[in-house]
Amino acid sequence: MVASSTAPAADARAREANVTLPVYGQLPFVPERAVGCDIITTDGRRILDLYGGHAVAALGYGHPRLTQAIQEQASNLLFQSNAVALDIRATAAEALVRIAPEGIARAFFVNSGAEANENALRMACMTTGRKKVLAVTHGFHGRTAAAAAVTWHSDKWYGFPAKPFDVDFIPRDDIEAAAAMIDDTVAAVIVEPVQGVAGAYALSGDFLRALRTATSDCGAVLIADEVQSGMGRSGHFFAIQAHDVEPDIITSAKSLGGGIPCGAVLCRDDIGLRFGPGDLGTTFGGGPVAAAAIATTINVIETDNLLDNVRQREAQICTQCITGPVQRIQGKGLLLGLVCDRPAVAVRDALLDYDILTGTSADPQVLRILAPLVLESRHVEHLARALDAIPPLAH
Ligand code: PLP
Repeated sequence: MVASSTAPAADARAREANVTLPVYGQLPFVPERAVGCDIITTDGRRILDLYGGHAVAALGYGHPRLTQAIQEQASNLLFQSNAVALDIRATAAEALVRIAPEGIARAFFVNSGAEANENALRMACMTTGRKKVLAVTHGFHGRTAAAAAVTWHSDKWYGFPAKPFDVDFIPRDDIEAAAAMIDDTVAAVIVEPVQGVAGAYALSGDFLRALRTATSDCGAVLIADEVQSGMGRSGHFFAIQAHDVEPDIITSAKSLGGGIPCGAVLCRDDIGLRFGPGDLGTTFGGGPVAAAAIATTINVIETDNLLDNVRQREAQICTQCITGPVQRIQGKGLLLGLVCDRPAVAVRDALLDYDILTGTSADPQVLRILAPLVLESRHVEHLARALDAIPPLAH
């Protein structure tokens, strides 16, 4: 039986619980619509969203230019596969290689962050003919077979009987270990310049530069996973650009389409041109609606000066929000970790009582901010007031 459209929306949680897998912890509200940085719930609350649907809502909600671009593309040509060339796909790829670090010249479109990493790792193995991949401790790269294999502590939920290649982890920010571990058996090093799930931990520029030097010396591929840190979130289009490091491959998703599901693998010519028809592929990747969303998201970030806005809001948060339970702040741009004096989940719940949504992370003390890039000064002031009002820990 089809669910009645008149069923009370607040029942959505119970109805989902009846018919979907119980693999997500869900928050105690049901969104009805959203505008700007606010979610309006079925019971009439207006919640300031500093989490952006896991760093997806780069332009907030209902941005008129993004909505219009998606609607127009859906009306004109909802879908065609990569069997035909599309103006809008070319526009999206041109925009991506223009904003990417020097040397990145080509895009391969996919549908998610894990799929982007899966393909990036395959490309590195095929390019080098090697079968060992190094990742960095605390990193997260997704839940498919290869992406999960390079995710720190994925053994708890990996699920497959074997990993597709040999894997080892470089201790984060350990330059000496990186130099010792990267040799000519290594196909790729994959790294998040700012480790998102780990609690918005920004790796040092020296460490990232050491990875570049050692991979170049050994003919290994350097993959920057910018699924969470990319598309302007760090105050640069890609977080690695702050350190003048030129990776061989960049992966992108989440904010890439401002909310439309999509991902991309960006690479140098010498890697991309090794592949021919049939080597890589996907049905939906680079579809016209996703491509329109990507091109428009990049255009809005540029024309509305959102990289400047991200840097200003970062500075404001770092000045005003070390208060209440927050001891210090780590991360970059609007990928920030508020290090708390108590479990982050308690602070998240307290902020929700003030109608502010934040996120937790793999570090139990770190609360994550992944706000839309259109965040305003008044929103940060609201957050600072709410943090200040959270009672101190009882001693
Ligand atoms: N890489 C990073 C850095 C991520 O943060 C995530 C998701 O959180 C992924 C990859 C996986 O992306 P997706 O969930 O779109 O597969």
